[in-house]
Parts: sequence; C-alpha cells; structure tokens
Amino acid sequence: MSKALPTRSENYSEWYNELVKRADLAENSAVRGCMVIKPYGFSIWEKMQRALDDMFKETGHSNAYFPLFIPKSFLSKEADHVEGFAKECAVVTHYRLMNDPNGGGVVVDPSAKLEEELIVRPTSETVIWSTYKNWIQSYRDLPLLINQWANVVRWEMRTRIFLRTTEFLWQEGHTAHATEAEAIAETEQMLEVYATFAEEWMALPVLRGIKTPNERFAGAVETYCIEALMQDTKALQAGTSHFLGQNFAKAFDVKFQDKEGKLEYVWGTSWGSSTRMMGALIMAHSDDAGLVLPPKLAPIQVVIIPIYRDQNQFDQISAKVQELMKDLKKRGISVKFDSSDAYKPGYKFAEYELRGVPVRLAMGARDLENGTVEVARRDTKTKETVALEGIVDHIEELLENIQQSIYNKALAFQKDNSHKADTYEEFKEILDTKGGFIYAHWDGTPETENRIKEETKATIRCIPLNAEAEEGVCIVTGKPSGRRVVFARAY
Ligand code: AMP
Repeated sequence: MSKALPTRSENYSEWYNELVKRADLAENSAVRGCMVIKPYGFSIWEKMQRALDDMFKETGHSNAYFPLFIPKSFLSKEADHVEGFAKECAVVTHYRLMNDPNGGGVVVDPSAKLEEELIVRPTSETVIWSTYKNWIQSYRDLPLLINQWANVVRWEMRTRIFLRTTEFLWQEGHTAHATEAEAIAETEQMLEVYATFAEEWMALPVLRGIKTPNERFAGAVETYCIEALMQDTKALQAGTSHFLGQNFAKAFDVKFQDKEGKLEYVWGTSWGSSTRMMGALIMAHSDDAGLVLPPKLAPIQVVIIPIYRDQNQFDQISAKVQELMKDLKKRGISVKFDSSDAYKPGYKFAEYELRGVPVRLAMGARDLENGTVEVARRDTKTKETVALEGIVDHIEELLENIQQSIYNKALAFQKDNSHKADTYEEFKEILDTKGGFIYAHWDGTPETENRIKEETKATIRCIPLNAEAEEGVCIVTGKPSGRRVVFARAY
C-alpha cells in the first residue's frame, strides 16, 4: 500500500498537493502554472458543470462560444479593464515558425509578425461586447442572456493547482439589459445561483457579499462574491458576479432604441466561476485519509467490494450484487462493483477512501447467508451491518444524510471560526492564533485597507450583504463606521 498522506496539521499545503495527486484528480504539467486534469478529477468537474449549467438554463440563459484570441485594441477600449488585466496577459505576436538559417533549431519567423497582436483571453467582456454591438439594436433584442464555457489564461505569478492556475476552465456569463435595475437584479440573481450551488451541491456554506473598490473586477461598477472558509481557516473566493453599469456598452458603443424610440446605452453584467471550485471542494471537506466528496458531486456514489475465498463464493456474491446494482441505478445512484482480483479488499477500502467515494458496501459469504451487507460511510468512517431487504431506501437516505452532514460540519466550522475584533491588537491576535473570518469596523478607505493588508496579510473578503447596521469605529484609524466588514487571510 502507498505511504499515508501527510496530515493536515503537519503540513496543510503538502497534504493538499499530495491529495490532489494521490486521489488522481490532477497533476502539474510541463508548462508552469498549467495543470493536467485527470479523468477522475474531470468527472467531478463535469458534475459541477452539469449542475451549474442546469441552473443557468433555468434562469433563462443560453450557451454560446466566442474566440480565444482578443485583438489588443479591444482590450484597451475600457480603461480600467485593460489596466487591471495588462499585467497578466499572454500575447501572440507571430503566426509561424521556421528553421533557423544559422542552425539554431526552430525559431519564430520574423516575417510572420501579426499586424495587430492578439491577447489570449483572460476574460471575454471585450470580444463579447464587440459582438453585442451587432446583436443589439432595439429593446426587443434585450435582455441578452449568454453563458460561455471556456478556458482562459491569466499569467499568475504564484500558482497552486486548481486554486490559481495560469490557464483555467470556467464559465463566464455576459448579459445585456435595458435598465440599470434589471442588470443589478441579474447580478444579484447569479450571485444567489453560485451561493445555492456552493451550499446545496458542494455542501460548502458561503458568505454573500460585495467587494471593496480595491478588490473589484477591473471594469465593473460593483463586484459581488461568495467567500468560503477552508479547513486551515484561510478564506477562498469561490465565485463572482459583476454589475458592469454601462462601462462596456460605452467602450464598444452598444446602444439600443427604447420603446419611445430614444437611443440608450445597454446595461451589462458578467459572472464567473472556475476550476478553483475543485480546490474549494477538496480543501473544505477532505481529511487525513483522503478526499471527502458530497454525494451530489461524487462520480461514484456507492462502491461495492466482494469478500470471498473461492470462485463459488464470488459467483454467489456477484449475482446478488448485480441485482442490487440494477435497483440502485434505477434510483439514479451511481454505483461501481470492484470485482478485480488484483487487489485485496483492505487495499481497495483505502483506495476508495482516498478517492472520497461516499458509501462503501462490503459483501461476504456470511452476509449472503444472513441477508445483510456491511455499509461504511466515508465522511464519518462509521460502519454498520444492514439487512439487504430495504437496502436501496437505506442507501438513498444515507446519501442525503451524508450530503447534509458534510454541509453541517462545514457550517459549524465556519461559525467556530468567525470572530469579532474591536481593536487592531485584538484583530492581529485573532489572525495569528485562530485565523478565520474576522468581523471588524473599517473606515471605508483604500488607504486603511492597504495598510491592514501590508501589516497583516489580511484582506477584506467582502462587505456581507446581510450585514446589520452597527455604529462603531475603525480598528485602525478610529474613524466612524456604520457596519462590520469581513477580513481574512485568503488564497
Ligand atoms: P473574475 O473574472 O476575476 O471575477 O474571476 C471569475 C472566477 O474565476 C472567480 O470565481 C475566481 O475565483 C476565478 N479565478 C480567477 N483567477 C483564477 C485563476 N488564476 N485560477 C482559477 N480560478 C480563477
């Protein structure tokens, strides 16, 4: 059997890296900051995609696809946008290679220089709004509700598998509306879609909030976000929804004729979530034995392992298992029968634990005689012997129960790791001894926010949407503040 994982308390970061590798989720590639997502990891991502995509369709959106390359001039049209993304852009300058006449191998052909350089999209607002100009003329063309599943490239300096990669997979929604109110409603609706997905599918409780101007998406009027807490008490932003105002409409001259025949600029939103969510899923729930997956996102929900001494026993167990599998599949439960004889049951148990399969059934000759099966749940690592009669109902309930209890555990963790700080001393002390979300008063200035970041590495994660009004004073400057904001050290 392979060596045990490093434990979370020993080295959280090593634990995460090893887990991603050993559970066969992904690996680093030859290209710095770019990952290979392996089949098991990709099958979890596909489940996430499917659930989110369904939610986008239910809220009226359609999928489309736009180009990977963006002319440099497009990016420059929205001033804040280009300023925000300029430092992370991969730029295509040439379109051909040639053999070096001086024998230096293959080199860029200097005669194949592009007239206009192309940017590998870091996000697609510019190319999409340049297209929307042709699609939108009248109020009848609105709202335009589009989503794209794609890869994007941001030249990140510090990368970490899934959480922050140079190339990542994501979806980006881009919508256009006739009124400001409608665009804001859309921004808020999509934030709620992300929050619902995080909570109901990923079993991950999140804070819903608004970013400070410092942390706002480049080109947005307002950025909404969901923030989650990882087991090392660091925060992770898991999705963003931006109200773009008329910024991109003005940059790309996208106007529509309203019902009165007046020409108006269109209002916009964009919203995105990425393979970072895989990192969130892994970091939030897994333990020292491996991955813990919420059943709704587990590619295999139930694994069945036979325990037998001879072919005859195997055949009898196998016949029973086939019946059971048919019944489980009828209920939409994904099940795998691991009948390979290449490994011993104990080894298989550890492997499926590592891969986070929520429920493991073990069936031996004695179970067959007694009409029972051993049921083990991954999240609590508890086992029980259950009658085969009614087992499908039992498993269905168990899966729901596991989904809920993983969520409850994460919620309790979030509550236990949320603190209030009323002075800067207290704030720093909590940060260094406990971490987590710290609710504190802030004077609303970027100067104070930057100072706190420089001195403590904590950032304002969000101004929570449900923040209650509370008169207080900024922990740093003593200036008045009307409500607490949430600070944390973050990924
Ligand atoms: P943004 O367009 O910056 O609002 O980001 C949209 C989504 O992509 C957010 O959920 C981010 O957490 C995520 N994201 C941003 N940069 C990266 C990256 N380098 N790797 C993975 N996910 C990212």
